[in-house]
Parts: sequence; structure tokens; C-alpha cells
Amino acid sequence: MRTPIIAGNWKLNKTSREAIVLVEELKREVADLEGVDIVVCPPFTALESVSEVLTETNIALGAQNVYWADSGAFTGEISTPMLKDFGVQYVIVGHSERRQYFGETNETVNKRLRAALAHGLTPIVCVGENLAEREADQTFAVLQTQVQGSLAGLPAGQAGLTCDEMNKIVVAYEPVWAIGTGKTATPSMAQEAHAFVRGLLAKIFGPDTAQSVRIQYGGSVTPENIAALMSQPDIDGALVGGASLKAASFAAIINAARK
Ligand code: PEP
Repeated sequence: MRTPIIAGNWKLNKTSREAIVLVEELKREVADLEGVDIVVCPPFTALESVSEVLTETNIALGAQNVYWADSGAFTGEISTPMLKDFGVQYVIVGHSERRQYFGETNETVNKRLRAALAHGLTPIVCVGENLAEREADQTFAVLQTQVQGSLAGLPAGQAGLTCDEMNKIVVAYEPVWAIGTGKTATPSMAQEAHAFVRGLLAKIFGPDTAQSVRIQYGGSVTPENIAALMSQPDIDGALVGGASLKAASFAAIINAARK
């Protein structure tokens, strides 16, 4: 049985002070909720303050990106040891906005993911087709390239981790045309993509590990559409952008996703 996982990607929003207000409210809204893993991913500048508010709560801390080297001459980058210093447990890698605006490729996503795993962080690896690719019937081909590229060299090349431990990776299927647009994939469209991704994972890690990997849907998730998405057999949660910026709507999504 896969525990649902709901993660909030705050993107380039919230100062440290605003972040504290949001997470204090969220903490009250979801106190004592069980049957769901809850993650918030504030901007780097708010990680420390949010981390303090989240101590001994049921909300885990995530980051929106990470660099693969631990330290060195890489101006502007943030490493896994730096994230862990703030109690970060999850990190988003390969978000479509990083791929689209910051030149991320499957190769660099793979490096980030491997650095995260090597340091015991749980990567949330994002994949998804854009509108032109969907309209050209390329969705499965794009997903295959992104999943295989992002997970290249695993598990054999990942020192110290067995195939079974690979189940800590979270995959987020995020059709780019649905992100921030108000256009959600229908539950059956999302299910078709999730089942395809799980099949790819089975080829890489074997069927048992593939069955335990959680695959989130992302793209204009709201309190109104989450239940229908979660009713699909291969949808194990959501990566939520806009609706995670208000405690009430994020809490409503979390509540609806609980087993
Ligand atoms: C996202 O940022 O990953 C996302 C899915 O955003 P939104 O929920 O706003 O579409």
C-alpha cells in the first residue's frame, strides 16, 4: 500500500516572514492528520525559518532544487549538505520550469537526483510533456526519455543503494500544459501516463520496486479536482503549485488525498 504524498511547491513566492505565517496556519489546519505524507518546498531563503516552525510536526521540509557538488566554486548554487543542515528531507529535481527557463537537461537532473540519493534526501523527480508534444502524440516517447535519462545509472551506479531502496524516489508526472494554467489532465489521461511511467520503472527497478514508488500528479491541482485524480489506481498524490500558497486550499487537498 502506497501512502499518498502531497507536496507544495511554493516556487518564487514568500519572503521568510510570509512563509512563517503560511506554515503556522498550515500546521494548525493539518495537525494530527494521518494517512498522508505532507511536504512543503519553500524558496531557499525561507528554509531555515520554516524548518523551525515545522519541528516535531507532521509536515516535512523540501527544497525546490539542489546542485550535485557538495561545495566548491559554483556561485549561486546550493548543495545537499547545506539543505540537510536545515532539516530538508525532500528535493524537487527537474521541474519543467527549471528545464524550460534554466537549461536543465535529463543529464543534469540525473546528477542532482543522484546527489540527493547519495545524501539521503528523497528526490521528487518531475517529468511531463508540453502541449506540442501531446498534440504530436509524443507523450509516451517524451516520458520514456525523461524517466530513463533522469534515472540513468540507477540502481547499479548508485553506491550503497539497493533496488529495494530505490522506492524512496518520488516521481511527479506534470504535463507542462497543465502547470499554472487551470487546465488539469482528466483523471483518465493522468492515469494513462502514470501507468506508463510505472511500467518504465518496472523495467528499470523490477516490478516490486515499481509498485512501491509513489507517482504524484501535478498541474493545476485544486481542492475541487483532487478526489477524482486520487481515485485512479496509479495516482499516489500531488505536486501542488498555486493551491499550496494558501493554507486552507492546501489543507483541503491534503485531507482529500488521505487514505
Ligand atoms: C507545479 O509547480 O509543479 C505545479 C503543478 O503548479 P500548479 O499547481 O500551479 O499548476
